[in-house]
Amino acid sequence: MTATILVTGGAGYIGSHACLALLQAGYAVVAIDNLCNSHARALERVRQLAGRDLHFVQGDIRDAAALGRLFADHPIAAVMHFAGLKAVGESCKKPLLYYDNNVLGTISLLQAMERAAVKRLIFSSSATVYGFPERMPIDEEAPLAAYNPYGRTKQMIEQMLGDLCLPTAQDGWQVALLRYFNPVGAHESGMIGEDPGGIPNNLLPYVTQVAAGRREWLPVFGNDYPTADGTGVRDYIHVLDLVDGHLKALQKLETLPEGEGFCRAWNLGTGQGYSVLEMVRTFEQVNGVAVPYRIMPRRDGDVASCWADASRAKTELGWVAKRDLATMLADSWRWQHNNPDGYR
Ligand code: NAD
Ligand code: UDP
Repeated sequence: MTATILVTGGAGYIGSHACLALLQAGYAVVAIDNLCNSHARALERVRQLAGRDLHFVQGDIRDAAALGRLFADHPIAAVMHFAGLKAVGESCKKPLLYYDNNVLGTISLLQAMERAAVKRLIFSSSATVYGFPERMPIDEEAPLAAYNPYGRTKQMIEQMLGDLCLPTAQDGWQVALLRYFNPVGAHESGMIGEDPGGIPNNLLPYVTQVAAGRREWLPVFGNDYPTADGTGVRDYIHVLDLVDGHLKALQKLETLPEGEGFCRAWNLGTGQGYSVLEMVRTFEQVNGVAVPYRIMPRRDGDVASCWADASRAKTELGWVAKRDLATMLADSWRWQHNNPDGYR
């Protein structure tokens, strides 16, 4: 029988790619999203690409009645939980909004799962839980030290999920904590991709909007970091590789005996860091478009460097990131070029 997976935040950037990958892998998909940072058109395109339908509910994960109906109406086997707010700067201005949406939203989801006796969960965590790490690359045993409200919501949720899986807790939850490094890229069709509202916070959407002429120049935040060229270094990972990691984690949970408590964190990154200027130059070379930039002061709260030791995911999930930087940057540009105004 085909297993049904609930995808929260399914219309979002990573969630829409996950819905497509699940459909292509033969799962049935139910998606819930309140569309606060996304567009239902993303899921129309997912249906088109997959040549299969999925069930979409426009709703909020904090709405217990909506979740109750959803679990009553569908035989959900596991949940991929992407729904959440993710802008670090906004989380510093409006911490309560983040604790409400991310932490209370997750509690509401877990309560609905408990009522429906669904115990398998894959959670979107983030490398931001490591704070300012002492050593590179970062492995999963590095201390958790998130330093902004967004990161702290992820850390709190991780801790809560860990508590659900303690041997003393009787419920037998099975949880994968996936700590993403920097997701970029888009499906190779150029039909689904990242569509941030307003001024992009993240590097890649900013770069593609400058390349498309929507913005004049890229602000490069600081060139005096202790890195090879002075600009910040990150571990960029193709969204399709990231989503493949979710399928591998799901398969891992599916092998566990029901009722056996399990909670494990895995880094999802390539293990390779690139600086902001390397990203700009490679983007220009691969896509043949100019990306004017200006060096600006450092952005508050940025670490100099951050890249993953992803060997645990390789050993335990049989997962490695396969797509190189050129592919990530070509796919990001194809999406932006084909959809200058995103889904609008
Ligand atoms: P996104 O904003 O594109 O997707 C999140 C989706 O959740 C959106 O469609 C939004 O409308 C929906 N949503 C938010 N709150 C909701 C609620 N209360 N009820 C229902 N739907 C709700 O972001 P994304 O980049 O796809 O990120 C997905 C997850 O991965 C998030 O939890 C994010 O924190 C995490 N993450 C993202 C990154 C990144 O750089 N993109 C890095 C690390 C972790
Ligand atoms: N960055 C930049 N200009 C921008 C956005 C980001 O120079 O407009 C830099 C940022 O300082 C960091 C890197 O690009 O070194 C990645 O930033 P992003 O916000 O994409 O990810 P995160 O900070 O979460 O790692």
